[in-house]
Amino acid sequence: MHHFPDAKAVVRALAPDEPVILNRPHAAARAARFFTEKFPGKSMYAVKANPSPELIQILWDNGVTHFDVASIAEVRMVRGLLPEAKLCFMHPVKTRGAIAEAYHQHGVKTFSLDTREELEKIVGATASESGELATDLNLLVRLRVSSEHSLLSLASKFGTDLADAAPLLRETRQYCDALGVCFHVGSQAMTPFAYVQALERVRAVIADAAVTVDIVDVGGGFPSSYPGMEPPPLEDYFALIHRHFEALPISYSAELWAEPGRALCAEYSSIIVKVEKRRGEELYINDGAYGALFDAAHVDWRFPVVALEDDLTKPLAEFAFYGPTCDDADYMKGPFMLPEDIQANDYIEIGMLGAYGAAMKTAFNGFGAAEAVIVEDEPMASLYRGDRPDPRSSDNVVSLR
Ligand SMILES: *Cc1c(COP(=O)(O)O)cnc(C)c1O
Repeated sequence: MHHFPDAKAVVRALAPDEPVILNRPHAAARAARFFTEKFPGKSMYAVKANPSPELIQILWDNGVTHFDVASIAEVRMVRGLLPEAKLCFMHPVKTRGAIAEAYHQHGVKTFSLDTREELEKIVGATASESGELATDLNLLVRLRVSSEHSLLSLASKFGTDLADAAPLLRETRQYCDALGVCFHVGSQAMTPFAYVQALERVRAVIADAAVTVDIVDVGGGFPSSYPGMEPPPLEDYFALIHRHFEALPISYSAELWAEPGRALCAEYSSIIVKVEKRRGEELYINDGAYGALFDAAHVDWRFPVVALEDDLTKPLAEFAFYGPTCDDADYMKGPFMLPEDIQANDYIEIGMLGAYGAAMKTAFNGFGAAEAVIVEDEPMASLYRGDRPDPRSSDNVVSLR
């Protein structure tokens, strides 16, 4: 991959007609070290946030040894790259064939489930040919928890209700070596109290079930920084999670796990797009809803933007974007703040696209090609650099009890 100092250098060298993905290995390495050093438990990377092999290697090289995989294709891909990695199959609905291949061919021992049917599937698919049951399974029961503090809900699709959790935990206990409880508070959880609430549910379920729990997995949801969405420091999340984990009625040797996706890779990538046309306050750019800007179009996510021309002198104004396809839905309302005099043929860098950005690209309508290069400058925002103003000192206070 080619190296450049920053986005402007890429534009000068390539004057690209297609979007260019700018990767920052140093930013992903820093995030990985932060989690492996400061999270008071085991951090496994949720591969779906960005399945790029280069990124997965960087995370591994910086201490991430466990990977949350959700499909057999992700299992095969990560196993092919990292023969020694621990893979955890954390999708609560899997096919029998996927479970069998993951267990028997790729050494996957950790699975999540939220129904009795899934438990039966896992127990059946991991048995030997002669019908002997596996004795080395880690099985995690996924609880349904609230998504009210998160920007993207993961509350309605998966997770067993409180009423069904106790019998499912007791039954699962019979078939596993280690029993766990997991949940997902939703993506971009803007306050650590999302985890506190969820851990209160875990406490109620464990008390109700009266079983020994060996693993508590707090899932993903750790935030990154975007315009209008500056979260409290991750240290606050870690401290509150640790305190409430320690207070659970679990064995002294119980393990704490997390499955960060976004937080480990958001800072890894940005993209350069070209303005093809301007119509009033709308800019027609060459990436969009079917490309790396899926969330900008579908959930009005506001990514940070910077104009890359030096001769734009006017103050910033609000713009909306149209993507390149012929579909009206290929629209991102923003607002994105760019110089008033921006025009066709100018270039824009869109930041914080390492998570759920490059991973979302499709080839719809013949668009979607993008070269990737490495840049050395800093991401547009960082939770890991130590020079961020503490948002607790602003009006947007999240008080810590
Ligand atoms: C998507 C997902 C994650 C990662 O979530 P982030 O919000 O990106 O941290 C973790 N665990 C599971 C089960 C997921 O589906």
